[in-house]
Amino acid sequence: MKTKYGYMGKILWVDLTNGTFRDEEIPDNVYEEFLSGYGLASKVIYENQPAGIDYKDERSIISVMSGILTNTEATFNGRWMLAGKSPLTGCWGDANCGGNFGPAIKQTGYDGIFITGKSEKPVYIYIDDETQQILPADDLWGHKDAVETEIILSERHSKKPYNNNEKNMAKVISIGSAGENCSLISGVVNDKGRLAARSGLGALFGTKQLKAICLNDNQTVYVYNSEEVINATRKLVNDLQNSTDSFCTTMKWSGTAGTTVDSVNTGDSPIKNWAGVAEDDFPQEKAAKINGYSITKYQTEEYYCAGCVFGCGGTCTVKQLGLKDTHRPEYEILAGFGALLLCDDAMAIFEINEKLNRAGFDAISVATTISWAFEAWEKGLFKEKFPDLKLVWGDSQAVINLVDDMIANKNLGAYLNNGVKQAAEQFDKDGITSPMHVFGQELPMHDSRKDGSLTLGIGYETEPTPGRHTSTNAQWEQMADTHDVDVVLNNNKLNIKFQKRYVHTDMSHEQQGQDLMASSCSEDIINGSGLCNFSFMGSYVPIVSWINNVTGWDKSFKEYLEIGKRIKTVRHSFNIREGVDVASIRMPDRARGNNILKDGPNAYSANVLKWDDAKADYYISMGWDVDTAKPSAETLKTLGLDFVYKDLYKE
Ligand code: SF4
Repeated sequence: MKTKYGYMGKILWVDLTNGTFRDEEIPDNVYEEFLSGYGLASKVIYENQPAGIDYKDERSIISVMSGILTNTEATFNGRWMLAGKSPLTGCWGDANCGGNFGPAIKQTGYDGIFITGKSEKPVYIYIDDETQQILPADDLWGHKDAVETEIILSERHSKKPYNNNEKNMAKVISIGSAGENCSLISGVVNDKGRLAARSGLGALFGTKQLKAICLNDNQTVYVYNSEEVINATRKLVNDLQNSTDSFCTTMKWSGTAGTTVDSVNTGDSPIKNWAGVAEDDFPQEKAAKINGYSITKYQTEEYYCAGCVFGCGGTCTVKQLGLKDTHRPEYEILAGFGALLLCDDAMAIFEINEKLNRAGFDAISVATTISWAFEAWEKGLFKEKFPDLKLVWGDSQAVINLVDDMIANKNLGAYLNNGVKQAAEQFDKDGITSPMHVFGQELPMHDSRKDGSLTLGIGYETEPTPGRHTSTNAQWEQMADTHDVDVVLNNNKLNIKFQKRYVHTDMSHEQQGQDLMASSCSEDIINGSGLCNFSFMGSYVPIVSWINNVTGWDKSFKEYLEIGKRIKTVRHSFNIREGVDVASIRMPDRARGNNILKDGPNAYSANVLKWDDAKADYYISMGWDVDTAKPSAETLKTLGLDFVYKDLYKE
């Protein structure tokens, strides 16, 4: 058989209804057209999942994916991914996570595992070099949280004490109580508390009664030209070591935990459920209590995902809380349970982080839902049902109590643990509060009103998984050389390489559309590769050279961008086929800036006037209809998406 370079050339189907396993060979051209990761998943799920079914339908599919660079000599390559229909939004759903599970997928000899059907009892999937089994999980389901489950299964199948950094140790992903209860804001956990959190995909595991997947094999990934891959990696590592880029140096020192103050000051962190102002409501002294040193002083060890030489994470011991080897809280949770709720209590955030990780809740969604609850309480919406409740901004104990109640599914927590959209629908029929979600997905801790680039807000409204900050890549030019940037933007005069771009002021409509297209579609290349977004820290990221030398292909950045466009268009078309009116998806007024802030870093944001124009520019650049966002017949033909064309144009 011809050697496969970079990919394994097959996927595994698991049917939980019938308890069967089946291999499917994937032709080489599919990898060249879709890469792996979300790309391969989008094609397989689009073609195999019937349109319009509920996520609870036994025909629904959840896929667990590696990337085309996973387990190669490229660095930052250890992301594993989930994809399926989002229980939270009803749109395409995906989620992405670091840790040590990515390589374990490819080591089973598959690029991805696609699970369908439903088990009658709780189970877990176990794969090693000799067996593929569906095993009972009655001792885990309802008894063990995600971290306990991981340790138990890893030790059970490795027959030695847990150590996830060891290569020859069974690797596990699992759900906690949130996923078991099919919470719409639940994720899937690995490495004792790292979550593929977004899109509510833990509920897909839950509805299938799938507690965990445990992988324990050691197959090889072949690389076409290792030497060139290593050379490119060495250069990047050298660039990062010598980098003076402030984000890079902060990340080396304290990961994203070191960005809290800066993010508040620059208007990146939303304040007080997006209604507050940094200086007035959450001044620098407060932000400093949950920034950098205040958090890293508890760190006992640096944390590295598989395939990463950078190691931006940390594990901490917090004696006051009895926490040992807990993951260091990162920016999203520090901002979500900090500025968004006006809390400056680092201990509370450590405690919440650990609880949510073990239960398998999406911390962004929980923080956003709780911050809405504080606003709703202020406006008297809980008076009737919970007359004794008191939710005063900045009260960290009240936040902890709500987190506990969400996990225990009781009191107000029972109304919050499916996310902010459902909570607001139950308590706020008159719409006097602002639930901060886009099409059901809670917004992350990055304020779309922050001046400078429209990428974030346009992404919140146009991406197949709405409301995500990791589905566009504003630093896309770091993966292209200068010539490529000029070609994409069709303007040789702009010297924008590695510079912050003020899209709305400097660019023509055509350039703006191209820039938004490149921001969007480059992220599909990243996710097809299994690359970490933190590789983009101001230095050239040799993703084109890596993929070419790993696979033996010879493609340009522009050709990879076309692959990204193809992947994006399939994920987007999945939503259209589901009956979603994609062009109508909007951020809440606060995120669009319709209620103009008069103070603070986001006062009178120039972004506010640009959303609709920029969206039109983006649609045109994607080859989608400017009013309906439907891909044109010509676009689908050009991208070779006949299987989508048949659905969208019913011939
Ligand atoms: S940069 Fe951080 S999150 Fe990204 S792969 Fe490395 S350790 Fe993991």
